[in-house]
Amino acid sequence: MLKLKDPSLLRTDSYINGKWIRGKSSFTVKNPYDDKTVAEVTEVGQAETKKAIDSAQKAFEEWKKLTPKQRGDYLKKWEELIYENWDDICTILTYEAGKPFEQSTHELMGCTGFLNWYAQEAHRLHGYTLQSPDPNRRFMILRQPIGVVGIISPWNFPSVLVIQKCAPALAAGCTVVLKPAEDTPLSALVHAELAHRAGIPHGVFNVLTCKDPTEVGNEMTSNPLVRKLTFTGSTEVGKKLAAAAGNTIKNLCMELGGNCPAIIFEDADLEKAVLSTFWFKFYNAGQCCNNINRIFIHERLYDQYVKQFQKMIDNFLKLGSGMDKTTNIGPLINEQGIAKVEELVDDALSQGATALRGGCRASNGPLFYEPTLLIDVDPKMRMYREEVFGPVASCYQFNDEDEVIRMANDTHYGLAAYLYTENIGRSWRVAEALEAGSIGVNTHDVVSELLPFGGWKQSGIGRENSAVESLNAYCETKSLVIAGIQH
Ligand code: NAD
Repeated sequence: MLKLKDPSLLRTDSYINGKWIRGKSSFTVKNPYDDKTVAEVTEVGQAETKKAIDSAQKAFEEWKKLTPKQRGDYLKKWEELIYENWDDICTILTYEAGKPFEQSTHELMGCTGFLNWYAQEAHRLHGYTLQSPDPNRRFMILRQPIGVVGIISPWNFPSVLVIQKCAPALAAGCTVVLKPAEDTPLSALVHAELAHRAGIPHGVFNVLTCKDPTEVGNEMTSNPLVRKLTFTGSTEVGKKLAAAAGNTIKNLCMELGGNCPAIIFEDADLEKAVLSTFWFKFYNAGQCCNNINRIFIHERLYDQYVKQFQKMIDNFLKLGSGMDKTTNIGPLINEQGIAKVEELVDDALSQGATALRGGCRASNGPLFYEPTLLIDVDPKMRMYREEVFGPVASCYQFNDEDEVIRMANDTHYGLAAYLYTENIGRSWRVAEALEAGSIGVNTHDVVSELLPFGGWKQSGIGRENSAVESLNAYCETKSLVIAGIQH
């Protein structure tokens, strides 16, 4: 039973133009740990979406005129409210996503980090001047907020991925219409409640909840008032949304799927490489977009790596309820997610792979999958091409640098890649050769508000975050020429 210090944080209606709105029906949000109902959430459709977009457009006219400090102050207030309600917010997140409580706290640290960062970045939305070739004219570049931003977010990080998009949008002067994932709408509604308490003006931040995303999605992609669509989710859905948004030529940001390689070279520090790849592989039960999908290990280290990895599975992983502080792996999000993991593992096993650990569902509950270690995996298996999005480590052997670079790049994804080596020359060479938006050398930790994040190839279009251009993604660029200057 979900117990909160402040039960009013658990909102179940959509938030439109500063008001809590109920649709004609509702849907159930369940805890993936025990399948128990967490909340009944309202289902809205096309009419409410249009209303939210209209109110966001109206609010934009005033919001964009606020000073950067005023907009930043709202974000700082929002950040303070997260600190004040920390445990309750983590509890709601843990209940709806099933993740271990400690990992919910990491996610919330991401939220406060982004709110704080963008509150300050609001001051750094700079244009610039150019030296005009004509003495009687002046050239300038202005940056102006793009308008209403439509956000569609996934379930795997339902709190921070909302903030990662809406904080820069609001800081830049845009307004937001957000549709969270159907499995995890409650964390987005918590943010609506906090935005409301922070005094963010009506219409600036709107949240639409629905089980079936079609109606809301169609309106968001076709309504010409939505000037930018920023989506995080699967490549399959991203392609459909990008095509639909093409009709009204929306500015797009697509943060899509991954098939990320980790390469352990023969000169790696083995202990560190095992630790890093092990903990990241099983973080959020393997449900991270930039998670390691394929582990390439040099033949000289292969046996030792596999042995140590296996020992760590035996000694350190504990499946269970996210509310049990000793748990470090929760369930997968839903039946579709676990069925995909099962299919990919079964396909690999049927074609000659061996499961040294796991390889089947766990007895902890219907959505738990055993932490799995597969060896003898090869490129003809689906595991090599497709994103597993679950707690499965697949090990491949290699013996040549060029060969492993070719294999690492042999995918239509390009989100992140990791390499482990103590050789500085190789670090540069391989990092430059890998086709991915983020590269970790001797680390898996490649996400920061300072660094641009996004994918090459079919992992996405556009970038989020970045110390240099963080707000530009939410702005139009305007060239301004002033003529007639007499000397
Ligand atoms: P998904 O594509 O199934 O769903 C994502 C969102 O799209 C959800 O809100 C869903 O309701 C919505 N959606 C689905 N069909 C829609 C439609 N027709 N119209 C409008 N909205 C629609 O993805 P998911 O299962 O929630 O998330 C997992 C995927 O997300 C993985 O592939 C993962 O790699 C990717 N992901 C990428 C990043 C990144 O930054 N690149 C981050 C997290 C997750």
